Amino acid sequence: MNEKSIQTTLIHSDYVAPGGFDAFPPGIHRASTVLFPNTAAMRSTEWRDKQAYTYGLHGTPTTFTLEGKLAEIEGGTHCLLTPSGLAAIAMVDFALLKSGDDVLLPDNVYNPNRELGRWLTQDFGVSARYYDPMIGAGIAELIQPNTKLLWTEAPGSVSMEVPDLPAVCQAAHARDVIVALDNTWAAGLALRGFDHGVDIVMHALTKYQSGGADLLMGAVITRDKALNDRIAQAHMRLGMGVSPDDAYLVQRGLPTMKLRFERHDASARTLAAWFKARPEISKVLHPALEDCPGHAFWKRDFTGAGGLFSVVFDPRYDEAQVDRMVDALTLFGIGYSWGGPNSLVMPYRIKSLRDKWADPGVLVRFNVGLEDPCDLIADLEQAFGQL
Ligand SMILES: *Cc1c(COP(=O)(O)O)cnc(C)c1O
Repeated sequence: MNEKSIQTTLIHSDYVAPGGFDAFPPGIHRASTVLFPNTAAMRSTEWRDKQAYTYGLHGTPTTFTLEGKLAEIEGGTHCLLTPSGLAAIAMVDFALLKSGDDVLLPDNVYNPNRELGRWLTQDFGVSARYYDPMIGAGIAELIQPNTKLLWTEAPGSVSMEVPDLPAVCQAAHARDVIVALDNTWAAGLALRGFDHGVDIVMHALTKYQSGGADLLMGAVITRDKALNDRIAQAHMRLGMGVSPDDAYLVQRGLPTMKLRFERHDASARTLAAWFKARPEISKVLHPALEDCPGHAFWKRDFTGAGGLFSVVFDPRYDEAQVDRMVDALTLFGIGYSWGGPNSLVMPYRIKSLRDKWADPGVLVRFNVGLEDPCDLIADLEQAFGQL
């Protein structure tokens, strides 16, 4: 055998690490090219089946393992990973909607999803219409022959209304409309979407699954192979890949997710009760409190709550006063997203985000992190002094 040149040796080393390595953390398998043992294997491997590997974009053991775990947590059978939660939403829309179709979105939908609906309407010949999130079985009247997809969010973003999911799903299914649920708030822990009738569960893994506020990822979970195949086709056509390193980090977060979630939940309820007792606050929009529209559905369908809720200030406080209070907080960062260890705060101009919004007070959303709730309350108390 010829001696290889150094240049070739740099690429083709003779060393092979011993097999049989085992450890608790899953391996991080990075690849664009995936090697086939021979041409027959290359020709017979179908990317769709996920029984073997074809190309980095279609997955490595690291991403397949995360998909399997997420499907199991949610009670589904199939899962597809996307580079962000928003990418997961867009993938579902592009998989299931075509020119001439209609999609229904709740008025309290995650705002970038609303933006996507606008784009689909303006440039893609799809009609996106927005419904009252508390409509329940009344959704039947909005369903048209061309309605193909209905988005739900439980609770809705920022204003936190909890929908009557089973009623909405029943009305949609009676007309063969597919129901997708953005289940990010409940992390698949406090609400099991499939048990309440939805066909597709979507998650922003960016939030609790990651838990570190250090990555972006999304997931789409189904329990119907044909439906998954339709979405997988869009996943492939749109080139939705995720980094195996990020997929590893999400898996690192999963074992502690329920413990973290329960702590977020307990602390958020402690803070919500504190807000409820304050004269400066007119409403606490936390699904576990009666101020929150749909509280009864939360009680019926959910087993817990996350760390995210909103409060509405008494109308005697204007935006500038509330902004001063927000700026005075020291333990709450001002920033989007949530689900990490750090508490966050975000004032919203909610009227500009909704077709219908009657409340005159300033709305502020809180993400309660993993700090000691006593310290968070002390911080709120000093900041409320700025009002
Ligand atoms: C954060 C979020 C998303 C989007 O997730 P990204 O990973 O930030 O794109 C979607 N839906 C809800 C309810 C969210 O809170």
